[in-house]
Amino acid sequence: MKLLYAGKAKSLYELDEGRVLMEFRDDLTAGDGAKRATKAGKGALNAEISAKFMELLRKKGIPTHYLGFEPPNRHVVKRVKIVPLEVIVRNIATGSLVRRYPFKEGTELSPPIVEFCLKSDEYHDPMVNEDIALALGAVSSREELSRMREIALRVNEVLREFLLKKGIILVDFKLEFGYDDEGNLVVADEISPDTCRFWDAETREVMDKDRFRRDMGDVLKYYEEVKRRISEN
Ligand code: UDP
Repeated sequence: MKLLYAGKAKSLYELDEGRVLMEFRDDLTAGDGAKRATKAGKGALNAEISAKFMELLRKKGIPTHYLGFEPPNRHVVKRVKIVPLEVIVRNIATGSLVRRYPFKEGTELSPPIVEFCLKSDEYHDPMVNEDIALALGAVSSREELSRMREIALRVNEVLREFLLKKGIILVDFKLEFGYDDEGNLVVADEISPDTCRFWDAETREVMDKDRFRRDMGDVLKYYEEVKRRISEN
């Protein structure tokens, strides 16, 4: 199969005209790729977790690029044109938000905060406002940004409610968007412990990639626990 693109944790292969095979690899990176590791089984865990979330969004009528899960570690997805922005939704202040602004760690953010960042390791994914996103050509209209914002907040509601029932707090997460061949704006990429912050609702234990970023250990043990909880009926 023809390799279309290899990113930091996933590779894309051409399936046919409109479809792409997205392979979740065992690579973990942090700090815009400065810190790297490989953990056997991570790709399969993220593929299964992300499939579950994408299927939930589909059930709730939220458009995504997801077409199906090919165990252990691949998704069949629509070929889309990726919007070069990361859309971050935050329910609790932590991470870069408390490093950049005088928010107190762990403060609940109500209503949630939506942030747009440019996808660029070279510039460390800087936050952009509407004018900058437009001037850079990342989007072609303000409406595009407001549609992404609206979908991201809806995704937040769906995932937050679902996860809370599983004893998991959705602290924050990152989404990517793309346009399919018909020009529909859809949620793309992945939704996994690599791209979300999950805290245990009882103990507030970290269950996501922060365990790797902050050298807390047992990274996959917690990914496994997220998978176990969201797979239960
Ligand atoms: N995030 C991501 N990719 C990025 C940046 C952030 O998936 O390139 C996710 C991250 O996992 C977290 C949320 O977006 O769930 C907010 O991240 P933050 O801005 O706090 O970044 P960090 O503290 O990791 O620098």
